[in-house]
Amino acid sequence: MAKALDTIPVWDWGFFTEPKPCVIAGPCSAETEEQLLASAKGCAEQGIHMFRAGIWKPRTHPGCFEGIGTPGLKWMQKAKQEYGVKICTEVASEKHVYECLKYGIDLVWIGARTTANPFLVQEIAEALRDTDIPVLVKNPMNPDLDLWIGALERLNAVGIKKLGAIQRGFTSYEKIRYRNNPEWQVAVELRSRYPELSIFTDPSHMGGKREYLQELSQKSLDLGFEGLMIESHCNPACALSDAAQQLTAEDLGKLLASLVVRTPDISGAGREQIAQLRAQIDLIDESILYTLGSRMKISRKIGECKKANNIAIVQANRWDSLLAAVVEKGKAYNLPEEFVKAVFNAIHEASVQTQNDILEGASSEQK
Ligand code: PEP
Ligand code: MN
Repeated sequence: MAKALDTIPVWDWGFFTEPKPCVIAGPCSAETEEQLLASAKGCAEQGIHMFRAGIWKPRTHPGCFEGIGTPGLKWMQKAKQEYGVKICTEVASEKHVYECLKYGIDLVWIGARTTANPFLVQEIAEALRDTDIPVLVKNPMNPDLDLWIGALERLNAVGIKKLGAIQRGFTSYEKIRYRNNPEWQVAVELRSRYPELSIFTDPSHMGGKREYLQELSQKSLDLGFEGLMIESHCNPACALSDAAQQLTAEDLGKLLASLVVRTPDISGAGREQIAQLRAQIDLIDESILYTLGSRMKISRKIGECKKANNIAIVQANRWDSLLAAVVEKGKAYNLPEEFVKAVFNAIHEASVQTQNDILEGASSEQK
């Protein structure tokens, strides 16, 4: 049983204001003082709530730009003074935390590569003990919800209540549309386990390319998440890291203006129509259940027959050809292959389980 998290909603941290989304924006990395200040000015003009920049950069290959280090914190401080923005950065060790505290960083986040390392998360948590600094925890690189929750628990256990999560997608070996696979269901599950925990989406690292940021940001809002962390650079083409996914301040403004915030409660226009459509869905669900029940009855009869004739429960060939046939038929109903496979595999599993129970019932009767 997971422990409850004792957290303060993001609206009470003093940085973010309604309506949604809470917006954190800024360059992937602090590179030079000029670049950082120009990027901060651009973001501030777009009305963002908080300015980000990476000071220490975890890079896949050695020899790439690994961040400017502590001098960048001084530039961040300057950006705060000159443009009135709150400032945040990524920490990956206790040393980073101490440096951030020294330079008045308003919020820190733990990066995806660090979340997966409980030793480092614990070290960071200890360094943050007795501070009031909010912390956002990115999802680990792999879709391991417990690892993500474990990191949140470690921070909560040292008294950090201004705690939130950032989803930035998950590594995929297969080539996919995005740089990282959103796997939205992982954050949706996090939301259902901890409804009070505020969740941000980082469409920049999820998408990997400028052109995907709008659709991912809108999707995040549609799923009801609170915030966005978006990379924005004064000259994206020349960025020393993540050049393909950063937006100019102007494009950031356009993206934010394009977002539609839909209300979670159904009222006003559309309410009638949604109610009618939902009623139709309820009826269809009812008939799906009836059909599944009828199928299961037959499956039980087959189970009895297999028991009586000493036939193994699973005949792999039979299942492969059934699956191929339903996938093919599903196309006529506009049903995606993966969906049809998932549904029928679940049906098959339940069917096998039922037949197994029939068989085991027989052997225990014989004992
Ligand atoms: C970042 O936000 O700059 C970053 C490195 O992100 P992630 O940890 O999601 O890769
Ligand atoms: Mn980046």
